[in-house]
Amino acid sequence: MEKYELLIEKISTASGLEVSEIEKRVEEKKAKLSGLISKEGAAQIIAAELGISFEDQDLKINELMAGMRKVNVIGKIINLFPVREFEKNGVKGKVANFVIADETGNTRVVLWDLKHISMIENEEIKQGDVVSIKNGSTRDSEIHLSGFSEISKSNEVMENVKTEREVNEVSLVDARQGQNVRIRGIVVQIFQPRFYSVCPECNKKVIAEGEGFNCAEHGKVNAKERGILNFVLDDATETMRVVMFSDQINLLIPEEDLKDAEKAMAFRDDFLGTEVYLSGLVKRNQLFNNLEIVASNVEKVDVEKLIVELEKAE
Ligand SMILES: [Zn+2]
Repeated sequence: MEKYELLIEKISTASGLEVSEIEKRVEEKKAKLSGLISKEGAAQIIAAELGISFEDQDLKINELMAGMRKVNVIGKIINLFPVREFEKNGVKGKVANFVIADETGNTRVVLWDLKHISMIENEEIKQGDVVSIKNGSTRDSEIHLSGFSEISKSNEVMENVKTEREVNEVSLVDARQGQNVRIRGIVVQIFQPRFYSVCPECNKKVIAEGEGFNCAEHGKVNAKERGILNFVLDDATETMRVVMFSDQINLLIPEEDLKDAEKAMAFRDDFLGTEVYLSGLVKRNQLFNNLEIVASNVEKVDVEKLIVELEKAE
């Protein structure tokens, strides 16, 4: 069931109002806010107006929605990322994140509190552990933990958790940070392809040093070139910048061809205005502070194939 439908059902049960009545109020709220809010967002406002709170309740992962506070969930850590250090306005900080899953779905958890982060550093919390989270808040499609949140190892056994990444078939206007999305849209702008040098072993950026290149991890290496190509996707609700790396570029054109001005131009002319299915992860671009999609797959919409499939479905 869609998150939105789950939410409407919960509001209906808690308020005693018919589902249709709540849907009507959601539509009215959306219209009143000139469509500036998603259906889920409008439904949460309706819930609040009816005095229904989702705070301090144990929720399943697929019941989480953007903008919730005091969220309690239990999940198994299926992917744990290294702790990152950063510096912002001269202040050093750390951030950690992992993905938890239960039987209904999975979501990224972001830890900002040093006490919580030290639990990862000390391996008190490891991949495969089941953890209980209390008092988290949701931001976009992620759970964020502050110093007021609690995290502890749980004894609950979770066997069948949903490890496939959730793919959200959403409109761009409803896309949120941290979501894996699949969107159908038109390529309305293409930027100049760029190439940069990476380490052949770890694929990370290398720094030019003298005549060669240096990898932070592997030292002196023979760098290889990788392409990056950005374009703007328009799905009629919104436009969003898309970032493609070698693997995705090669789905459309051999990466090397982009170094040839003539071939690059021909590709550009062909790709511009093309309708595509784009899959990827929605991320916040720190430099521009806007959302962009890091592509994982790009497929041209094959209109003829679609017609054949539609006819088969009839
Ligand atoms: Zn390397």
